[in-house]
Amino acid sequence: MLQLSDHITKVPFIGPVQAKKLERLGIYRIVDLLLHIPKRYVDSTNTQPISEARHTESATIKATVSAISNSYTRSRKTITRAKVDDGSGSINLIWFNQRFIIKSIHPTHEYLFQIKRSKHGGDHYVTNYEEIKQNGEQLHLGRISPIYKQTDGISTKWLRARLYDTISKVDFSEVSEHIENADVPLDRSIMSIHFPEDMEQLKGSIIPLQFDEMVGLAYDIKERKALIERYPGVPISTSNTRLQEIRQLLPFTLTEAQEETISEILEDLRKNTPMHRLINGDVGSGKTVLAMIAASATIEAGYKVILLAPTTILAKQHYENFKNNSSIVTEKLALVTSEETIYEDDAEMLIGTHALLHREDLPEDTALVIIDEQHRFGVEQRKKIREMVGGNFMPHYLSLSATPIPRTLARIIFGDMEVSTLSSGPSTRKTISSHLVPVNKRSDCYRWVYEQIKSTGTQAFIVLPLIETSEIETERDLSVLKIYKELSEGELKGLNINYLHGKLSDKVKMKRMSEFQSGKIDVLISTTVIEVGIDIPNANIMVIEGAERFGLAQLHQLRGRVGRGASQAYCYVIPSSEDPEAHTVERLKYFVSHKSGFDIAEYDLKDRGPGQITGAEQSGLPNLLIADLADLEMLRKAKTVAEKLPSRPFTIFEMKKSLS
Ligand code: ADP
Ligand code: MG
Repeated sequence: MLQLSDHITKVPFIGPVQAKKLERLGIYRIVDLLLHIPKRYVDSTNTQPISEARHTESATIKATVSAISNSYTRSRKTITRAKVDDGSGSINLIWFNQRFIIKSIHPTHEYLFQIKRSKHGGDHYVTNYEEIKQNGEQLHLGRISPIYKQTDGISTKWLRARLYDTISKVDFSEVSEHIENADVPLDRSIMSIHFPEDMEQLKGSIIPLQFDEMVGLAYDIKERKALIERYPGVPISTSNTRLQEIRQLLPFTLTEAQEETISEILEDLRKNTPMHRLINGDVGSGKTVLAMIAASATIEAGYKVILLAPTTILAKQHYENFKNNSSIVTEKLALVTSEETIYEDDAEMLIGTHALLHREDLPEDTALVIIDEQHRFGVEQRKKIREMVGGNFMPHYLSLSATPIPRTLARIIFGDMEVSTLSSGPSTRKTISSHLVPVNKRSDCYRWVYEQIKSTGTQAFIVLPLIETSEIETERDLSVLKIYKELSEGELKGLNINYLHGKLSDKVKMKRMSEFQSGKIDVLISTTVIEVGIDIPNANIMVIEGAERFGLAQLHQLRGRVGRGASQAYCYVIPSSEDPEAHTVERLKYFVSHKSGFDIAEYDLKDRGPGQITGAEQSGLPNLLIADLADLEMLRKAKTVAEKLPSRPFTIFEMKKSLS
């Protein structure tokens, strides 16, 4: 038997090489593999007779191969052609660049083929095929099959095979059964989440798993609340005169929403219970200045402030920003990241990444902790900070959110916090002119970008979903390295182009970012590494390729990177495929025609792709594997259950967390 906590290399066919690749998907142990939840499913249970399939765009057929051969093009590509029949007729099929297929096809055996009509003629090409198994245990075709998030060298097909072999060999007794729905045993729900027999069974297995995970989230909220209530805060008051002074020092007038939030923050600080406030604001709504005012009040009162940012780049940006506004907050600033430390013992405001939390000499009289753009600052981190600053009070917490969160949702998820909503930014901000660009207009779009940069001196971001080439041959290659090469030799030749992605060292990332910031680089091609908060006023163009592979909330955040200056800004979203699905087009159209992050977040939560389980991967919201945050009903119920539980149930999700 395999144990959930076993390392992934215990699984047959997974050696150190595959294990290394699986790490990129967050899979280290068996439990992580089992909880690598399908993104969606494809149903190929209905097959068509060839006589009909011939005339359709795409189909699944069941046939035997009567002839198969390879030929080579001048550019040394392989084309494999096969003639297959099923009694109703025969059809010609082709594969590109898979010359070994020929060896794996047996002439007398029966196969399922998933086929798509070629754009250029009568032939159909094969997108997938599988031999009909004697015992009926199809993995890929003729059933509802899972589609997984994959990575270089780890494909959906490979994952299916590993999961299918593994699940039935796992001993689940290390974790508790479902919190509710005891009639569906855990092992069976895990099996049917990956390999459902039908949609009914899928639904029946998703719900208990979702509930288990949701209770975990509800328990987090309960614990945070308990922690908050355990210690007193330190009351801090600000005079109106000082506030007026600060207003004078700012280069702009505060908006009404900002003023309101400031009143709320200052009122919280005055109390002798610690503040726990979340600023739920749109991109560019002006949250930083609120942090400054809170920091200023705290330092005036003789205490210290910590500001935590999610990335080195953002920490540095805050540091520069606070330095430039030292008359508002303080001149005594510290910066602590993995790259750089500027630290004096008398620093009053400490800015940094999580590296800051590793210092042992954090000031005891820290009375305010500001957390920018991330919510993964849970109970553990809070306990740690509290212990480190060591005073006998709990610092005030101010959390600035990365994503606008629909109000109804915010009220439940952040039930332990007060929430201020900043729904609109300063009115000086122009609407970012946003457009959906079909793939056949892509070249025109880049030529226009070229002209804009040449004539106005603006800068552009180009965001891509991948770093390196994807292994799926039929998809357009949307990797940073490929597009970088293509554009620098093509449409954008003559401009200063560079790229950025997560595999580069922090040092290189910082260097490229600052070259972009200073205008040395005209076009920065990147993955989403610099997703949040970055402020580059001269960058006015954002192009997002493979746009449907991002969540709408994420697209909105990316768009928010431009339009921070005075000039008109533009955002172009380009889908991966020349003829995207209707649903993709609908979503992207919604995105380009809406500017409020709150509207977009609401739409994103309600609108799921067909067969999609969760809208996860939205930064700002708790990262759930399977539970659906839009299911407020379930969330409420989970809270009621969590309230009554004396201790945290050790579900499969808790096991995963405890090991990561
Ligand atoms: P975010 O909420 O995304 O963190 P920032 O705090 O970085 O946004 O603010 C975005 C930009 O708007 C900054 O350049 C900031 O100086 C500017 N800004 C903030 N408040 C106002 C205001 N009331 N009027 C004009 N500009 C403002
Ligand atoms: Mg910000």
